[in-house]
Amino acid sequence: MRIDVVSIFPEYLAPLRLSLLGRAQTDGILELEVHDLREFTSDRHRTVDDTPYGGGAGMVMKPEPWALALEAVLAAQTARRHPGQGDARQGDPRQSDPPTLIVPSPAGEVFTQSLAYELAEEPTLAFACGRYEGIDERVLEWAAPRFRVRPVSLGDYVLNGGEVAVMAMVEAIGRLLPGVVGNPESLVEESHSDGLLEYPVYTKPSSWRGLDVPEVLLSGNHGRIAKWRREQQLRRTASRRPELLEGVDASQFSGGEREVLRELGYGVDDSGRLARA
Ligand code: SAM
Repeated sequence: MRIDVVSIFPEYLAPLRLSLLGRAQTDGILELEVHDLREFTSDRHRTVDDTPYGGGAGMVMKPEPWALALEAVLAAQTARRHPGQGDARQGDPRQSDPPTLIVPSPAGEVFTQSLAYELAEEPTLAFACGRYEGIDERVLEWAAPRFRVRPVSLGDYVLNGGEVAVMAMVEAIGRLLPGVVGNPESLVEESHSDGLLEYPVYTKPSSWRGLDVPEVLLSGNHGRIAKWRREQQLRRTASRRPELLEGVDASQFSGGEREVLRELGYGVDDSGRLARA
């Protein structure tokens, strides 16, 4: 996968060169290019912002450098998505298979594990990091025929800029690329992979400061362990994120699991979905 990030603080993204994602880049699984938005300005002060039309606090990111930066990203990504077709498609604003442009924004759809899985299937991704009060809205309109534009929020809070959101998203997406995480099985049972939170995990020693690892995990009985873990997933999800269970198709749960869910206050409604009693 190729990822292009545009930011006025390219150095902010440096941690993406470390650890598993750093190795993925060395191994050629991930190609990451970070572009400095100021390189696409033409004035002496390399200006990227201006006052908002209509008044109000703060500054807004100017459209001109954004269009130039995104054109450069588009050219690099088109070459990657359609190798061997030269420059023929690069100037074509209406491509049949446009690359995805993620615009981090607290006003976007919320980033989830299922969106991470969806985006991990893409050959290229572009990210546009906003700062100040955000990017002039016309940039998104201009980009719409050229990219599949998706404003995406990390959560219901406001950050100073898109860089931290991009780091979180690139890490979540990057670790799903084949070959990035050493043991791909570890991705299967993680929180959110099946709509539930992960069960609690323990390592040696079995007894530590008066606290013992649950006996079942030392039993060597894989059936009992799997059952215990699944029950713990249900209990943890019901207690920490009850809304994740609401409306879920109940047919995926065994009789024993439904018993646990009943104890946790969930019944099954007429349409076969979980509902809090
Ligand atoms: N005025 C904007 C609003 O209220 O929607 C917030 C601007 S924020 C100070 C500056 C930039 O930080 C945004 O353009 C966006 O790129 C990024 N940002 C802030 N909060 C975010 C969030 N929850 N998720 C993703 N990006 C966020």
